[in-house]
Amino acid sequence: MAFLNTFRQLNSKTASLRQLLVGPTKRTMATNQFNHPVSIAITEDEASIQSMINKMCQDIVAPRTQRMDEVAKLDKEVIDALFKNGLMGVDVDQKYGGTGASFLATILAVEELAKFDPSVSIIMDVQNTLCISTFKKYASEEQKQKYLPRLCKDTIASFALSEPESGSDAFALKTRAEDKGDHFVINGGKCWITNAGEAEVFLVFANVDPSKGYKGISCFILERGMPGFTIGKPENKLGIRASSTCSLSFEDVKVPKENVVGQIGHGYKYAIGILNEGRIGIGAQMIGLAQGCFDYSVKYSLERKQFGQPIFEFQGMQHQISVVASQLRAARLLVYDAARAREAGADVVLEGAIAKYYASEVATATTSKCIEWMGGVGFTKDYPIEKYYRDCKIGCIYEGTTNIQLNTIAKLIKPFYAQ
Ligand SMILES: Cc1cc2nc3c(=O)[nH]c(=O)nc-3n(C[C@H](O)[C@H](O)[C@H](O)COP(=O)(O)OP(=O)(O)OC[C@H]3O[C@@H](n4cnc5c(N)ncnc54)[C@H](O)[C@@H]3O)c2cc1C
Repeated sequence: MAFLNTFRQLNSKTASLRQLLVGPTKRTMATNQFNHPVSIAITEDEASIQSMINKMCQDIVAPRTQRMDEVAKLDKEVIDALFKNGLMGVDVDQKYGGTGASFLATILAVEELAKFDPSVSIIMDVQNTLCISTFKKYASEEQKQKYLPRLCKDTIASFALSEPESGSDAFALKTRAEDKGDHFVINGGKCWITNAGEAEVFLVFANVDPSKGYKGISCFILERGMPGFTIGKPENKLGIRASSTCSLSFEDVKVPKENVVGQIGHGYKYAIGILNEGRIGIGAQMIGLAQGCFDYSVKYSLERKQFGQPIFEFQGMQHQISVVASQLRAARLLVYDAARAREAGADVVLEGAIAKYYASEVATATTSKCIEWMGGVGFTKDYPIEKYYRDCKIGCIYEGTTNIQLNTIAKLIKPFYAQ
């Protein structure tokens, strides 16, 4: 309990993740509560991070969630709190200004934020599991030194791969980068780019040589304000409405050579590698929102009386609640297991695809059932359940649709059985 105690001694509003992590790390089994799987060890500092985020969300996120959904914009105070509490660079080395925690800590943070607001969760998830991970894995030391401290401190980033003509078939992208000697000139456009409304730094995938097909795809660092780089208006969405999703347009954008990430022509490998891990984050977002929805609805079922007793007491209700509880636990185990596998350096293509696929299915089923359990009030905007129901749908779409995950899973299973 060392970290929790430290946390309590520090004023909880000002305790940052980094402060929580000062001291030795001791492995502990998570407590045997419904939403803590007992079979995956969570360190004390990871557990402290969860409780710190829970407190931060109660103070700062929860009072704003409904209004941010209505106005389709995140409050600056919420984004500031993510940075101040060390959540925008969770598994980044402290020498770059990061928190120096584990990948599972990142995943637990995504999950905890999603319990309160999946839009807040996704800004943090994209920052950590897509953008920062790309810098950590593929950027040069100079690029790390230039960008990681900014990303951990106050700068939001976006990961720009999708285009109007290339969604699931991502590597059919048309954005072109022409080599002009000491710089590249980028022309084209992107769509559906998360965080683009707030981002200052963009990882943009463009093809330097379309004759090579996907082997021409390369990754470039662009910054807001570069001449010829325009960011469109946020999309008006069904769910995760407060998260900005914009198109990007590039007209003769001059990008210096030092802004190429890794090797020319290796962008497709980087995008695949990062999205394989990123899917664990989407799985975490899905179990977090499903848990938040479930917690609210089950409490309601214990209070709401019909036929002279709480509706929870009807066996028909209990069986449905138990089925959802079991599915949610299974999804959480898949997500945490994939995160630990990634920490151990394993290739997590299968784990990530299964975790994301299953967690989004479970979130869809959970939020739908929760509306039914709440009856008429669950269908209104006076209760938070309809928002979870809208927010969960994106889990089956971004970072690879459900069909694409199932394609991946089948492709990986087949060699074990084919003659
Ligand atoms: C809110 C939001 C945020 C996003 N954020 C980002 C971001 O930050 N960065 C980014 O680069 N992109 C982002 N995306 C894009 C997202 O990754 C794509 O929308 C997604 O990959 C699907 O592409 P698509 O929309 O073009 O659908 P399509 O590819 O047109 O798919 C339509 C349907 O066809 C099915 N389908 C397609 N191909 C196959 C196949 N081979 N087998 C079986 N079924 C198939 C799909 O499963 C789907 O059901 C975001 C999207 C949304 C909606």
